[in-house]
Amino acid sequence: MKDLHSPFAGSYAEARVKFLRAATDAGLSIRSHEHPERGREGETLAIDVALQGPKDAAAMLVISSGCHGIEGFCGSAVQVALIRDQSWLDQASANGLAVLYIHALNPHGFSWLRRVTHENVDLNRNFVDFSRELPRNLGYDDIAHLAVPPDWPLSEAVIAEAQRYIADRGFAAFIAALSGGQYHHPQGQMYGGQQPCWSNLVLRQVLREHARDVEQLGWIDIHTGLGPCGHGERIFFNQNDATALARTRSWWGPAVTSYYDGSSDSAPLSGNLWCGIRDECPQAEYTGIALEFGTLHYEKVMLALTADHWLHLQTATYPSVASRIRQEMIEAFFVDTAEWKEAVLTQTFCAAAQAVVALRR
Ligand SMILES: [Zn+2]
Repeated sequence: MKDLHSPFAGSYAEARVKFLRAATDAGLSIRSHEHPERGREGETLAIDVALQGPKDAAAMLVISSGCHGIEGFCGSAVQVALIRDQSWLDQASANGLAVLYIHALNPHGFSWLRRVTHENVDLNRNFVDFSRELPRNLGYDDIAHLAVPPDWPLSEAVIAEAQRYIADRGFAAFIAALSGGQYHHPQGQMYGGQQPCWSNLVLRQVLREHARDVEQLGWIDIHTGLGPCGHGERIFFNQNDATALARTRSWWGPAVTSYYDGSSDSAPLSGNLWCGIRDECPQAEYTGIALEFGTLHYEKVMLALTADHWLHLQTATYPSVASRIRQEMIEAFFVDTAEWKEAVLTQTFCAAAQAVVALRR
């Protein structure tokens, strides 16, 4: 693939410049939703939205990045690569189709090298109905003190307790407890919040503006950090509905996995972003996947996230410790090799092309 490295960026600020420049050069209409806080380099943070095609399109494909902040290093690059690719633009523009690129759903986490928002919220657990009693993740209650430990590196006691939990209840139970989402430990991991967070509210506004009259809505939400290195798992991103699953597999192939039937590497989750899509676009036939690219072994990703949450609570720490933890966060969610970048770009171009073919049917 030509131009393999140039869509990728070394910081949120650089990624944003590349995205805005690519969208401007391609003549897309751009709208930026500014975040109330500043980034790590003092830069403006924003969810930037670029529309390709007509405003009143009956069929729309959304390609979104940075739901989990730091995972935007991958998602931003594939958006930039797509927008720079004239043959993709031509292919996607035929038949009056629209493509909406949503850049950096969680710009604060992207800039600050965190997975969560500035509210310590996991955006992909935040789309629940807050007027009702929130789901209780009893498994997380048991391991909350392991997920955000008192010391870093981990003490032998914490390691032994985690190993004991896994030996007693199994690794899958540990992962479900840790990553399924929880609403009762505001400083913990995979915290879904107590109210819609900033990114949630902005995404809903974007959908109201662009997708209220769409009849067919396709979605690819780019993630990293789960599964074999460089493999893009296509995870069913919708409610537990056999018809929707069959339609999703007809778009993206039989390899589409689902956490409802255990075929996905992902644990069952609550409050996913697709709940917001369904809320805001009830008129649309919605078909979506999370495209999740593997990076490091899961244990290393978990350790990086645990260290990050520990670091976030420290009022003072050695700069060398902080910078090592941030570096380990980057490595947990982005693989800086030509092979990985090529794998990511190739698989995203393929998934995007499949969506366009399906939307034209
Ligand atoms: Zn993610």
